[in-house]
This record gives sequence, structure tokens and C-alpha cells, in this order.
Amino acid sequence: MTDGARVHADYLAILNALPIPAAAFRSEGNLAPVLLRANDCFVTLARIATATSECIASRVMEDPAMAAAIDDFLHSGANSSKFEWLDGDVVDRHHYTVGLSLLPAEGEDHRDWLLTFIDRTAAIEAERSLRAEMLRDSLTGLPNRSAFIEAVDTAIETESGPASFAVLIVDLTRFSRVNESMGALAGDELIITVARRLVSALRSGDLLARLGGDEFAILLKLKDGPGDALHAARRIHAALLTPFRLSDLEIRIDCAIGCSLMSDAINMSEDLVRNAQFAMKRAKQSGRVEVYQPGEVAVARRRFSMETELRRAIEAGDLKLAYQPLIDLQGDRIAGFEALTRWEHADYGFISPVDFISVAEESGLIVPLGRWAVNEATQTLAKWDALAGEILPIYVAVNVSAVQLVRDDMAAVTRNALEASSLHGSRLMLELTESAIIADPERSGRMLKQLKALDITIAMDDFGTGYSSLAYLQRLPIDVLKIDRSFVTGMLGDRDSVAIVRAILSLASALGMNTTAEGVETAEVAQTLTALGCSYGQGYYFARPLAPDDALAFCIRSGLFKKRA
Ligand code: C2E
Ligand code: CA
Ligand code: CA
Repeated sequence: MTDGARVHADYLAILNALPIPAAAFRSEGNLAPVLLRANDCFVTLARIATATSECIASRVMEDPAMAAAIDDFLHSGANSSKFEWLDGDVVDRHHYTVGLSLLPAEGEDHRDWLLTFIDRTAAIEAERSLRAEMLRDSLTGLPNRSAFIEAVDTAIETESGPASFAVLIVDLTRFSRVNESMGALAGDELIITVARRLVSALRSGDLLARLGGDEFAILLKLKDGPGDALHAARRIHAALLTPFRLSDLEIRIDCAIGCSLMSDAINMSEDLVRNAQFAMKRAKQSGRVEVYQPGEVAVARRRFSMETELRRAIEAGDLKLAYQPLIDLQGDRIAGFEALTRWEHADYGFISPVDFISVAEESGLIVPLGRWAVNEATQTLAKWDALAGEILPIYVAVNVSAVQLVRDDMAAVTRNALEASSLHGSRLMLELTESAIIADPERSGRMLKQLKALDITIAMDDFGTGYSSLAYLQRLPIDVLKIDRSFVTGMLGDRDSVAIVRAILSLASALGMNTTAEGVETAEVAQTLTALGCSYGQGYYFARPLAPDDALAFCIRSGLFKKRA
């Protein structure tokens, strides 16, 4: 035996020791490769019990993909090569990384080469299930955000033309209250039920995904143009309208739906989703289904910088309070003032609370802002008392956002403010909105009791615009209903408004509550309200919101001091 032959024989002997299928072949000219030696693993792989060399060789070569790869390799002049191969057996497909390498040559007229198989099936399966896992929301089993983005990507590539599909974002309002008051398990159960209802509201071909938290996304094929999207939104809305049963409780949730339509300007799925989210944010305010309008992103950027600016303004003490008189209609005197936050920006001028309060609520800045307002208002009233040399028979009313009621300990905040200003609780009124109270009646009930224990007066702001759940009203210690100005300002020319105002007045008197009409702009409206028995009026007719000194001057002019003197 030559040295070369010995090396070769050793090589072949080693084959059997390899833990992976391996076989050595010899190729001569254009003849079919001949098997020199195959190890046991290889024989098992070839699934031929009594393996003859020819059987194995032809079993390997009968697979066209394998034969082609081997042919390429032998003609390439390379020493080794690798390729991925899928076993032809349909029942139990296996993935292999197949290795080809030349063995040391013994002669010029032939080439010997080694074929090895590394089974990658397990790894590929694991990867596949991991991927499936990564694309699935584990709570609902729905596709998650990544899967949704992929589906939108595919739609952008394959669907033809603008307005061929749309993305809807459905966000549950008041969901966090369920989580907070009933626990995360109940919240999960609610999300699962909501997911089921949403599925039932869709048509085949639409895709529902959960983006996270209480936010769902739907990819809608538009068969009859954009109108389809609004129909779908209505079906979804209707599907969530029926109350949900959780344990023994009936829960109502509402949703905000934003929509963005595929357009020529869009080439990224993320854009389409983000646009729908913008529209959804607007829907939260408006209570309607909103469709994304181009340019909205720029508006949002401005809002974002507003958040930074607002934080700075709060820290720098740039916010002021304006005081608008609340007039006792029946006694024809000043009853108090509503404190309204004012922000005069060095560059942008006056910024309306309608704009910055919502930014404060979204960013959480409402908590420091709200605390500041309570402190500032009580300090100012104490200062007026000091200037007057007596305890004035007036109170200040401070607005408390729904967000703050949930996030902050209002009882502690007001107790501290009263202590710091040495005011009695009856000098302070808090104006809450209906939504704040009804969102979580248990919690707000507890909170209101604590506030009442401090003798604070509670007003329900913007009454008539929200959910008007009279059952809660009756149970909660509310002293004043503030009739929203949308019913008041133009009431004389509008029968519906008059009817609503009358209804609210009689409801309030039945419940033993006082009433304040907002937005009184004319003497006629003021007289009518007085005649109808409304307790207080507020509006431009009496006075605009005033700077603190002007408010005090208004008191003096109205004879508040003289009357008492
Ligand atoms: P609101 O609580 O309903 O306050 C009354 C709003 O009506 C004020 O708007 C006031 O200036 C305006 N107004 C008063 N009389 C009339 C009138 O005769 N006609 C008309 N058309 N409007 C009248 P403003 O100051 O722009 O405040 C808007 C809203 O911002 C407030 O509505 C309140 O919800 C919120 N807000 C203001 N300050 C604060 C605050 O310190 N904290 C919180 N949470 N919200 C605040
Ligand atoms: Ca108010
Ligand atoms: Ca109001």
C-alpha cells in the first residue's frame, strides 16, 4: 500500500466514527459517481436496510436538487461547498445542510469526494415556532404588532391602487379603570372577550391584530372604496356596545376608532399604522370615527414640543390663574370665582387651555398642574381675605381633570392646600367632569366622600355633554350641576336647548342640587335662567375671566364689601 492509499483508507475508516451521515464517492469523467464507503448514519438516512453501494449512490443521485448541486461542485474546481437540502420524503421532511469536500486525490483520472449531512430540522422548527410565537399575541392568540406590520407590508406590495385597503385602530376607552379597579386578570378577560367580538364584526379577508394593551388594529380590504371602512368602523362600534359581563358585574366600555386609507403617498406600513393612531387620538376627543388627514403629523409634532414647553412653564411658574365670577342669580351677588389656567407663552402668545390641558392629560403633567392650580387658587383667596380684612363670603372653584382624579390623591392635595392657606373647606369647590366620575364610580365615590369630609363643595362640570348616568349622580355627594354652555349660550333661539336646560334644572332640584349655567352672554339669557330657578350664572355677560387684581376690584365694585360692612 502506498502512503497515499493508507491515508485514503484511514479516511474511510474514520467515516464510521462520524456521528453524522457521511459517504465517500468517486467520480470518473462523465460516469455516475460510485460509492466508496458510507457510514452507518448514512445508511440509515438513505433508508435502505440491505444497502448495496449502487443503491445508495443512486438513491442520492435520484434527487434532482442533490444531483445538480453535486454536479456544480465537481465542475466548480472548489475544494468544498455547502448547500441546504430538503429531504424529498413528504411525510417527514427534514432539512439538511449538505457538505461536499474533495478528498486527497489518489490519481489524476478520478476525483474522490465526501458527502456529509447535518440535520437542521430541529433548529429550523424551533426557529419557526419562535417566529410564530414572536408574531402572536399570547393573551388573545391574535397576530401582534410585528405580524400586523408584516401583513400591511404585504398589502402595500400586492394590493393595487390607493384606497384599496385601510387600517383601523380601535382603542378601548376607560379600560385602564377596569384594570385598576378589578385587577389585571379581569382586564385580561375583558381583552379576550373584546377580541372575540371584534373578530365577529369583521368580514373574511380582514385581519385583526392586538398592538398591545387595549389597542387593536384591523387591516381592511376595501371592496367598495373608502365608505367600506366607515361601515366596518360602525359594525365594530356596535359590537362593543353591548355591556360585557365580568364576574358578576356588567361593564360598559367604549372605543375610539381611527382610520387611515392607503394612498399613493404611503410606502411604509409604519406610516399607515401611525396615521391611524393619530386619527384615533382625535377620535378620543371627538367621540366620532376619525379618518386621518394629511398634515396631522406636523400638528402632532407641535403638540409634542408643547409638552416640553408646558413642563418648563409649570416649573418656571409661568402659568397664571384667571378668575371668572360665579353669580348667585337668585340673590344677585357674587358667589365665587372659577379659577381658569392661563398660559402666556413668550414666543407663541396666549395658548388656550383647550389645547394645553389635553396635552397635560396625555403627558401626565396634569398632576403637577392640577396641584399648582389648587394651591394657587386657595392662596389667592386667602390673600383677598387678608386685603379685605375679613373672611369674604366667596369661594374659588378649581377644575380637576379626570386623569388627575385617577392618578393623584386629591383628598391629600386639597387638605394640604387648605392647611397652607388656612382656609375652611367650604371656601373651595372642585369641578369634576362626568366622565371622571362615571369612569370609575367606586373609586370616585370614595374620593368624593373624603373630599366632603373636608367640607369641600363638589360641582359636576359640563353637565349634559357626557354619559349622564343619573343612577350615579343620585348616589354621589354632588352639590352643583354645571350646565354646559353649549345648551345655554344660544338657548333662547333653540327649543331643544331650552328643554334640556329645563330638564337639568328640574333634575337638580329633585336631587337637591344647585345649578350653574355656563356661557351666559346676554341679559335675556340671564333673566330667563333666573326665572327658571337656576342658582348661579357664569359668562361673558357678567364678566370674562379676570386677572386676580381685577377680580378683587370686581368684588369691590359689586359692593360685596359694602354690603357686609
Ligand atoms: P370649563 O371648565 O367649562 O371652563 C369654562 C370655559 O368657558 C372657560 O374657557 C371660560 O373662559 C369659558 N367661558 C366663560 N364664559 C363664557 C361665555 O360667556 N361664552 C363663552 N363662549 N365661553 C365662556 P377656558 O378658560 O378657555 O377653559 C377651557 C377649559 O379648559 C375649561 O372649561 C376647563 O375644562 C379647562 N381648564 C381650564 N383651566 C383648567 C385647570 O386649571 N385645570 C383643568 N383640569 N382644566 C382646566
Ligand atoms: Ca369648569
Ligand atoms: Ca364647563
